[in-house]
Amino acid sequence: MEDIFTSNIQIYSRNTDTNNKRYLYQKGFKRFWSLPIPPPARNLWYRILSRKSPTSKYLNQIGTIDSPRCHLCHNYVDNLEHFIVQCTIKSTVWNRVLTSHYPTYNVTNSNILKALYNMETPFGTQSSRNIPFLVIISTTNYYIWYFYWQFIIHNIPFVAEAIINRSNRQISIILN
Ligand SMILES: [Zn+2]
Repeated sequence: MEDIFTSNIQIYSRNTDTNNKRYLYQKGFKRFWSLPIPPPARNLWYRILSRKSPTSKYLNQIGTIDSPRCHLCHNYVDNLEHFIVQCTIKSTVWNRVLTSHYPTYNVTNSNILKALYNMETPFGTQSSRNIPFLVIISTTNYYIWYFYWQFIIHNIPFVAEAIINRSNRQISIILN
């Protein structure tokens, strides 16, 4: 598993890598490391900020798997956007979790991606809602990722309801 994450990562999104690292080490560094999120969620998020996520597209490029298509829906090439949020099955989880926390605000896929790629939130840089938002996004992202690999490796069904419950339980522990 470690090979997947660490080997030959430079072929993946070389251009954005430098900008993101610069952002992380300057403006976002303190905030990123001080957020009250579980270590595995932070590790995964760090990989996304560094554009090192093991999407099927990437694993296919480095020869680990035969097809770049998504293992869940089989309809699309599993690039980073699809891997995080665009796959229909994953997007159901995002919608349900985010609607339960933001019943009056429509959090878009773009909001989710901006949070995970650049630590941006839709509320403005000084808002007190920023930390809860980043906690919710990074925790949900982690559980989607965790259950996705449970499905791939152990053949445990990817059930939206179970992922929503695990995400919301962890989020309420962190934020309450
Ligand atoms: Zn898919």
